[in-house]
Amino acid sequence: AYSNFGNNRGKSAFFNDRGNANRGSELFSASNTGINFEKYDDIPVEATGQNCPHHIENFQDVDMGEIVMGNIGLSRYTRPTPVQKYAIPIVKSKRDLMACAQTGSGKTAAFLLPILSQIYCEGPGEALNAAKENGKYGRRKQYPISLVLAPTRELALQIYDEARKFSYRSRVRPCVVYGGADIGQQIRDLERGCHLLVATPGRLVDMIERGKIGLDYCNYLVLDEADRMLDMGFEPQIRRIVEQDTMPHKGIRQTMMFSATFPKEIQILARDFLEEYIFLAVGRVGSTSENITQKVVWVEESDKRSFLLDLLSATGETDSLTLVFVETKKGADALEDFLYREGYACTSIHGDRSQRDREEALSQFRSGKCPILVATAVAARGLDISNVKHVINFDLPSDIEEYVHRIGRTGRVGNLGLATSFFNDKNGNITKDLLDILVEAKQEVPSWLESLAYEHQHKSSNRGRSKRFSGGFGARDYRQTAAGGNAGGFGGRGGRNQAGHGGNRGFGGGGFGNFYTSDGYGGNYSHSQVDWWGN
Ligand code: ADP
Ligand code: MG
Repeated sequence: AYSNFGNNRGKSAFFNDRGNANRGSELFSASNTGINFEKYDDIPVEATGQNCPHHIENFQDVDMGEIVMGNIGLSRYTRPTPVQKYAIPIVKSKRDLMACAQTGSGKTAAFLLPILSQIYCEGPGEALNAAKENGKYGRRKQYPISLVLAPTRELALQIYDEARKFSYRSRVRPCVVYGGADIGQQIRDLERGCHLLVATPGRLVDMIERGKIGLDYCNYLVLDEADRMLDMGFEPQIRRIVEQDTMPHKGIRQTMMFSATFPKEIQILARDFLEEYIFLAVGRVGSTSENITQKVVWVEESDKRSFLLDLLSATGETDSLTLVFVETKKGADALEDFLYREGYACTSIHGDRSQRDREEALSQFRSGKCPILVATAVAARGLDISNVKHVINFDLPSDIEEYVHRIGRTGRVGNLGLATSFFNDKNGNITKDLLDILVEAKQEVPSWLESLAYEHQHKSSNRGRSKRFSGGFGARDYRQTAAGGNAGGFGGRGGRNQAGHGGNRGFGGGGFGNFYTSDGYGGNYSHSQVDWWGN
């Protein structure tokens, strides 16, 4: 059943051009050590939508072909993560997918494995001829079979690296294009063949307009971290790419969207881009699980530096990575200088650093050469830095979603982690939400935080409740809420800010009742006693 497009000969033309004897070992060198899968396995997943394919328990449960199975083995993935258990059979059975899962849950492989398996199975088809025809006239336009859109260069590179792993020994050639790097070099790389393209939206539009990429035969479209892409203002570019070019229409192509959250804007995008999709809600690790120990300490602005030094010297071990978040680019530079002068091997990543500097910083951090990374939130978003032991919020963010993202850098895929946040007068606006998170994750709550939150609530009683952090999932399938069921009814959003109205009507299932709503301290947290697996 598997065409020679994914043959196992190891010496195809596509393979040789990046060939070096060590390619395999270089590709698969990063290890996934210390993964605490027993804990991770418990994460609840809920799939909704018509005729949802059954989930798998093992990679072997679905036929993905020799190449994919071999590369899973080389990657030392022994078992699928929860999102993979569901997404793989859904994608394999050619269904569209909207998946809400937080970072670190294994989404990349959840789409790459089944897509590559399908490509190997079905071969390049028309795309190959089109590229050949085109090449005759010296235009060298490439027609990728699969497109993965990602918000940042770092994330695109990460997905690309995974794609290289999983396409090892096949004839599928992945490419990556992103802004801030030499476009000429990227074009030359594309011209060597491109079957799976990972791209940031802006640079891809540029490539399309230069006639270097044609999406005419793009049968698999993935939007990774879709919420983040919209936050970054990429919607026009995304619509330009998906709707106003030559890409096959929805229902003809297969489309997968991944997002940590499911706000209204993403629901609309899902409605526009997806056909009869399956909605996957994957329970949140990190903030809800006890994988991360969260500490909040009161530190005045002027004491932050010395407090940080104390924390760092307490960490001790050299092989553990510490990620320090600050609010501004200037703050990042200043803190890096300070730590450097104090004798710490550290580096930084923020929007004002060049692409090369950012990549360099990231690799020095990952390798442990600089075990301390000072970062702004934007720069660190979505990065898979797998063995961070300690996340320090030198400056707390103003919204709780950002907090959850940040602390999600530690405790990844079931590892244990620590998150310490410096809190002072400036952070009043996050008090209530932070308290909710701590309670939900069964963390120790400082009594001063509790009283602050109480005061704060009384000052702004009309504020409504925090949106989605009262339940185990990041989001709900809006189609199943009362409001979502009405034609075009995006307005209701199942109980957002509707505490006390019993939000999420029409979603009667045991234990699923209180995703967006809760009513006061500790009132609705008993849901965590629900045994999702029914055993
Ligand atoms: P997400 O996109 O959800 O943030 P990633 O796809 O970046 O998560 O995966 C996080 C980390 O977990 C990566 O280092 C990846 O290699 C690893 N990983 C993913 N799936 C598995 C698995 N089934 N077994 C072991 N490690 C895995
Ligand atoms: Mg990801």
